[in-house]
Amino acid sequence: MLIGALEAGGTNMVCSIGTPQGDVLQRASFMTTTPEVTIDQVVDFIGKFDVKALGIGSFGPLDLAPSSPTYGSITDTPKAAWVGYPLLRVLSSRLGLPTAIDTAVNCAALAESKMGAGKGYSSLLYVAVGTGIGGGLVVENRLVHGLVHPELGHMIMSVEPSDTMPDGTCPFHRHCLEGLASGPAIEKRWGLSSKLMTPDHPAWELEASYLAQMCVNSIVTFSPEIIVLGGGVMKQTHLFPRIRKKTLELLGGYVASSRLTPEGIDSYIVAPALGVNSCVVGALLLGAQALEEPSTR
Ligand code: ZN
Repeated sequence: MLIGALEAGGTNMVCSIGTPQGDVLQRASFMTTTPEVTIDQVVDFIGKFDVKALGIGSFGPLDLAPSSPTYGSITDTPKAAWVGYPLLRVLSSRLGLPTAIDTAVNCAALAESKMGAGKGYSSLLYVAVGTGIGGGLVVENRLVHGLVHPELGHMIMSVEPSDTMPDGTCPFHRHCLEGLASGPAIEKRWGLSSKLMTPDHPAWELEASYLAQMCVNSIVTFSPEIIVLGGGVMKQTHLFPRIRKKTLELLGGYVASSRLTPEGIDSYIVAPALGVNSCVVGALLLGAQALEEPSTR
């Protein structure tokens, strides 16, 4: 049986055809221009295959309030043509398929939880640190949505004394995580592309401090059994040992778990096991869920 997956990004729409187990068999990518042009391309590609359901991992924010009449729409985005676009409703009706939608980061969290780094645990926090910062939370094997969906990237931080850009870059908040620690924030603060920064550049100690604050706030709030850090910034793998060390320092030994010790933390704060495929695998799993639970959407 085949399932369709759409990774709807602000730059590209990546369509995949795969199995309910998350194996990708075919893939095509289209530039995200206007809904009229892009959605036709998506429908044409997926419509060529005998797929039984569709899972969508989309850029957001999304309306994911179950009772909302505009459930599955993109709510607000700098891409003006997509503001308010009913992505779920259009694709579901044009393809005539059971369809499920979630944020891209929630898809990645689902995939890492079921088939990646979090396999065997019932809870997981996945945080993507890149152009923006987003987090997806799985508790008791289910994604948390709550009021809308978690917006972990906008957690308010305690500013590090050495920070020369203490307000951050977020247009909505002063010193939130995304405004202080996203890829663009790093580059704005230091006036240098992060790709050109060597591992001993002071930017990385500061970055690790903010990401460690986020880990600690998440540990004491959600108690996840594992934290997965992905996204472009985390390709700087030297960040992992720094974040782990600072997380333990900030926790001060308060949370009693063998995982939160110098020996245990290497397997507690980890990179995605599925690499860059987390989102597409999650969208396939979401599509398979839509088939099993058609009443949910
Ligand atoms: Zn913010």
